Amino acid sequence: MRKKLLLGNWKMNKTPEEAASFARAASEMVDFAVSHNVDVGVAPTYVCLDAVKKAINPKCIVAAQNCSEHDHGAFTGEISIPMLRAIGIDWCIVGHSERRAYNGETSEACNAKIKALLAAGMTPVYCCGESLEAFEKGETKKFVAEQIRAGLKDLTPDEARKVIVAYEPIWAIGTGKSASTEIAEDTIGFVRRTLRELFGTAAVDMRILYGGSVKPDNVSAYIGAPDIDGALVGGASLDPVSFKGLIEGMLR
Ligand code: PEP
Repeated sequence: MRKKLLLGNWKMNKTPEEAASFARAASEMVDFAVSHNVDVGVAPTYVCLDAVKKAINPKCIVAAQNCSEHDHGAFTGEISIPMLRAIGIDWCIVGHSERRAYNGETSEACNAKIKALLAAGMTPVYCCGESLEAFEKGETKKFVAEQIRAGLKDLTPDEARKVIVAYEPIWAIGTGKSASTEIAEDTIGFVRRTLRELFGTAAVDMRILYGGSVKPDNVSAYIGAPDIDGALVGGASLDPVSFKGLIEGMLR
């Protein structure tokens, strides 16, 4: 039985003080979610990770938004996995569409990061999703299958089981245009079939999230679909009241 998961991606928002204030406000709602068998987490910026980790309910997952695949060296501006581990971070988002678009991150680079995270005992959240152009051409499945095959290349079924996949159509991220539940369900069903081809029955255990303009009032529609195990949420995860609404929506 796959446990539901709500993960907030804070993107480039909040100072450490603002992030710690959210963390304190979220304590009870984290208990509420966990007691209802829902995992919850937030992904603050690097500079807020330590403050959030120290202030938040320890049952809350705290994830980085990115990492380097290298442990150390001449990689100016990068943060390594051992550095994240040193402050108690054991989850990390990989291949968010904004990093693919603005930082040229490829699925092959994501594959190296995912392997390095798994080797360090961390949980990667691998993002995939098609552009508006691919969506309009009816090429969603081709696009997403390529990202899955390249990003998860050469993983064993046991490793794959530890990866969370997030399907986020790029045209729905931060635009207020969410994919219909039919589109999300259809594509996520396809993602699971692709994972099954690659990893056999391990695919049944893998959690797949939907992301793209998820809000407290639409989250339950996605979570009702059999293959959708939770949500990766940007804008609506920034405010504690809205975050609480998302948790409540997950339970509806
Ligand atoms: C995201 O950042 O992964 C995301 C889905 O953003 P939003 O919920 O704001 O569309």
